[in-house]
Amino acid sequence: MPTQDNLPKDNLYARVADFDAMEAELKATRHHLHAHPELSFEEAQTARYVADKLEGWGYEVSRNVGGHGVVATLKNGTGTKSIGIRADMDALPILEETGASYASTISGKMHACGHDGHTTMLLGAAEYLARTRRFNGTVTLIFQPAEEAGKESGAQKMIADGLFARFPIDAIFGLHNHPGMPAGALLTRPGAIMAGGNTVRITINGKGGHASRPHLTIDPVLIACNLVMTLQSVVSRNVDPTETAVLTVSTIHAGEASNVIPNTAKISMSVRYFDPAVAELIEERIRKLTASVAEGHGATADIEYEYGYPVVINSEAETAFANEVAQELVGSDNVSICPPLPGSEDFAYFLHHRPGSFLRLGNGKGSPILHSSKYDFNDENLTIGAAMWARLAERYLNA
Ligand SMILES: [Zn+2]
Ligand SMILES: [Zn+2]
Repeated sequence: MPTQDNLPKDNLYARVADFDAMEAELKATRHHLHAHPELSFEEAQTARYVADKLEGWGYEVSRNVGGHGVVATLKNGTGTKSIGIRADMDALPILEETGASYASTISGKMHACGHDGHTTMLLGAAEYLARTRRFNGTVTLIFQPAEEAGKESGAQKMIADGLFARFPIDAIFGLHNHPGMPAGALLTRPGAIMAGGNTVRITINGKGGHASRPHLTIDPVLIACNLVMTLQSVVSRNVDPTETAVLTVSTIHAGEASNVIPNTAKISMSVRYFDPAVAELIEERIRKLTASVAEGHGATADIEYEYGYPVVINSEAETAFANEVAQELVGSDNVSICPPLPGSEDFAYFLHHRPGSFLRLGNGKGSPILHSSKYDFNDENLTIGAAMWARLAERYLNA
């Protein structure tokens, strides 16, 4: 049995080739999860499957952390450092059209975001780490439910259930597969990597009446149209041009009949941003413009302003570390800096509590996009992702 003393440094830590023998097993696990998708907040079977495996490998397992969350810890040596690694487990309400032999057995539910692959890669690392034990400290593996929930998500619920108080976690890491980049390519980014997203719903309260007598009404349709145009100034005239933000008015609803001016008009919009200060500025501008446009026309406006997942902000040191480990594992040619992504991720909440980094792993250049009925996680990534997590844990805890 090799020990840390008689091995060259590089061989001390997990390599992709160390997972070759596990490839068939990892595929079988991924295909099982893929065939049995469970939506956010319903991940009971998935959680049991994961927890049973982890217990079998000798982990101390806590079930039902913040819903169907599973947390597994393994301590080795006398080291006091601890690393947290997170995978998400939930699926989506989509009718699968991949034609895969292991396609969803549940009509209308599908692993269309690759969380089956994320879960499998972390399980692969878990088995390897338990078997080889070449680390000095504590590994904490976080299997999170309900990432797709949009609000009151699995990350928030696990944190509220004491994730960081109950389990040793000095830094936390996670990753998402990334269609459009080659399988095995790893992408990192210090700072903001994924956008924060807010939803705004506005009701203009006018005064309805006959379409032929507009002077006796307060026309909410005209006001809503005015407001949609006025709101276009927020990103173009108020946000610093070196910052990135999106404000899209995506719905307008008003009226039923062509000869009636309605009482109300409703619009809703989606806001994306990469800097929390920009989010505050946009909110302030939307509120002011809405109130003043409505008031100018003699109407009132009700605003529902909902903050969704915040910006995923990677800490510098942990991202540099993950980048270094990624380069050791797959070579510097296969590691690149990720552009800021307009999608959102509830991993952002974990990074409010601990430093850490969220990575992306290419899912193949020709991969259908996430949340598509034809999307499938790329099995080539199973050994690469498992090796990445294992090596990251070993390197972090042995440093
Ligand atoms: Zn998704
Ligand atoms: Zn996802």
